[in-house]
Amino acid sequence: MASSKSNLKLVSGVGEDAVSSKLQLILQCVACASNDFALHQERLTCSGCQQVYLVKHGIVDSIVAPSPSLTKELQGMAREAGMEAQQWQDYKIRQVPSLPTLEALQAGTEGDAGHYYKQTMMNFEQARALLPVLGAGTRVLEIGSEAPFAFLKGFRATGAECHALNIYFPLTTPDPYSAWPIRTLGDMNHLPYRDASFDVVVMSATSHHTPTPELLLQEVSRVLKPGGKALLINDPLAGLIKGVGGSLAHHRDPLINENTYTLGRYQRAFDALGFNSEHLFSAYWEDRLQTANIHPQTRFATLARLLARLWRVAPVRHLIRHQLLWAVQVVFGFPLNVVLSKPTAASRPESRQA
Ligand SMILES: [Zn+2]
Repeated sequence: MASSKSNLKLVSGVGEDAVSSKLQLILQCVACASNDFALHQERLTCSGCQQVYLVKHGIVDSIVAPSPSLTKELQGMAREAGMEAQQWQDYKIRQVPSLPTLEALQAGTEGDAGHYYKQTMMNFEQARALLPVLGAGTRVLEIGSEAPFAFLKGFRATGAECHALNIYFPLTTPDPYSAWPIRTLGDMNHLPYRDASFDVVVMSATSHHTPTPELLLQEVSRVLKPGGKALLINDPLAGLIKGVGGSLAHHRDPLINENTYTLGRYQRAFDALGFNSEHLFSAYWEDRLQTANIHPQTRFATLARLLARLWRVAPVRHLIRHQLLWAVQVVFGFPLNVVLSKPTAASRPESRQA
């Protein structure tokens, strides 16, 4: 990669305005889609349209003309952090006393953030197990990525180049993440990357924050290489009996976009883009059903216990995990856990069997 020719006129800055040379290879102007930039004193200027992107602590801010829904999201997050809604610009990159550690997240108990974290992590590992091993020279993007970057750590261990995109990055001094992962501020519906940049895109409990899942998935497809994979995990789904999966959504500021889309809406978007989709029955919920570990405070605990009883019968379990997975997700609203595969050039969606 180091020898590949680049048309960028970027110079690596020193100190806080340094932009990752790896990001320079895939960065794209969200205003005009040019790949040509000049960096000067914490300002990255697009050579195509003169759009200026600020660079703070090595993080390029591509949120230059946020949509109303993205502005609302940032305003809600600013308020949750004790700031005024109109201070949302300052919320994107701000100093905080400390960041959550993996250990603190794992130490949680039933019903709280730690428990939720365990759920998201188990579902992630389940989906990641279906991916080929990614070596050096491969790129992974996590959308909605935040410290301690637990999902990206596994990819980093195999030598993959890791990119984190979010609408905010709280920082501590010193910054333990200054060299890894490569952080970029951006809108998931308008990704600041070139076409076919990534081997894998990961999103956990993120896609339901967009008002337009179709647009998000179109962007994900665009930045994926042919044959690339996308993991959409831990998104709440609208169910007839809502919310077995549970989330922390109801504790959030009302300005934050907490949507629940139907499985059908997601699937139509997957199909329209030619993605092959493999749905997974949540490893977390499988574990809980197996051990009949249903907390009395779970919504519809009686129903969940009934499901747990059925779960002990092996043929029933097999039926639910496979043939009935769709029906179970539609009825109970188990979270969306799906591995998407972008077709390779040789396997166009038109040629697939219906
Ligand atoms: Zn431009």
